[in-house]
Amino acid sequence: MTNKTQWNEATEAVLGAESILVVTHVKPDGDAIGSLLGLTLALRERGLNVDAAVDGGVPKFLEYLSGTETVYSKLTVSKWDLMISVDASDEERTGLVGAYGREHSGKIINLDHHATNTFFGNIYLVAPESVSATEIVYDWLVHMGGTISQSAAAALLTGLVTDTIGFRTSNVNPRTLEIVRELMLLGAPLHEIIQRTLVSRDYNDLELWKHVFPSIELKDGIISAVVTQTNLKQAGLDDMTDGGLVSTLISVEEAKIAVVFKEQSDNRVEMSFRSVVGFDVSAVAFALGGGGHKQAAGATVEGTMAEVQAQVMPLLQIALKQGEALG
Ligand code: 5GP
Ligand code: MN
Repeated sequence: MTNKTQWNEATEAVLGAESILVVTHVKPDGDAIGSLLGLTLALRERGLNVDAAVDGGVPKFLEYLSGTETVYSKLTVSKWDLMISVDASDEERTGLVGAYGREHSGKIINLDHHATNTFFGNIYLVAPESVSATEIVYDWLVHMGGTISQSAAAALLTGLVTDTIGFRTSNVNPRTLEIVRELMLLGAPLHEIIQRTLVSRDYNDLELWKHVFPSIELKDGIISAVVTQTNLKQAGLDDMTDGGLVSTLISVEEAKIAVVFKEQSDNRVEMSFRSVVGFDVSAVAFALGGGGHKQAAGATVEGTMAEVQAQVMPLLQIALKQGEALG
C-alpha cells in the first residue's frame, strides 16, 4: 500500500494556478461529490478560480450540498493551468470530463485513497489509510491554513459518512472521529447527512429488488445477484443500479464475499464487490481492469452475463480460499 502525500508541492501548484479544474469518478458516490465540492468550495473561498465537473452532474440524493448547481456535467470549451482529480484510482474513472481536462490542463494533482491507485498525474496526494478522499481534502486544507466554511465542512463530512457506511468499516479509527468532531463544530449536519445518504431510499429501488431477489444465490461463502436490463425497465429506472443491494447481500451471516452482476446495454457487465474483513475483493477488481478497496470494489467487463460470470466466479473463489487460508 503506497502512501505518497506531496502537500507542499500540491499547495504551491494550487496557489500558482490562475485556473483550476476539479474532477472525480463517474457514477459519483458521496465521497466523490463530497471531495469534489469540499475542495472546490474551499479553494474558491481562498480566492481561486475553480471549475468542477463530473459526467452527468451531481446525483439527486447529493443535491442538498451547496455548490452542486455550479458543477458542470460536460466540458466543451475551456482550459486550465491545473486539474485536480479526487477519489479516482485511475484516469479512465474520471470519464469524459477527465479526458477533456487532461488534454486542456498543464498539470495534474492525483488526490485519492484507493489502494489500487495507478499514480497517474504529476503531483500525488495518495493516502490509502485515509477512510475517504474527503479526509485527504480535510488534511490538505489544514496543511494549507485558513478557515473551512460550513458548506465545505458538510461536503467533507458527507464523504466520511458514506465511505465508512456510517462509521461501520474496519478502517475507522479515533482520528476519523476527531475529524468528524471538527467538521461538526464547523456546522456540518451529521444527522441530516446520514439520513439523506444512508437511510433514505427511492421506492423504485425496492421495486427493482422485487424482480432481482429471485436471482440471489449463496454458494459456499459467496453470495451473488444479477440485475438485468429487463429488471431495470420493470422498476421504471433509467440508469443501471443495484439500489444498494450488494450491501444487504454482504450482511448475510454465511457470506464472506458478495457480488452483484449488472447487465449494461452494450454487451458489458458491471460488477459491485463487497467482502467481510479478512477477504480482499480489490485484487479481483484490479485484475479485471477495475479497482476499489479490500472490502468494496468494482469493475466493468466485456461479454455476455454468462461469459462474465464464468470468468469472475473462479476469481472470487480464489479470493475466498486465500481469505480462509489467512484467517
Ligand atoms: P460500488 O460497488 O459502490 O460501485 O464501488 C465500490 C468501490 O469500488 C468504490 O470505491 C468505487 O470507487 C470502486 N469501483 C467501482 N467500480 C470501479 C471501476 O470500474 N474502476 C475502479 N477503478 N474502481 C471502481
Ligand atoms: Mn472514496
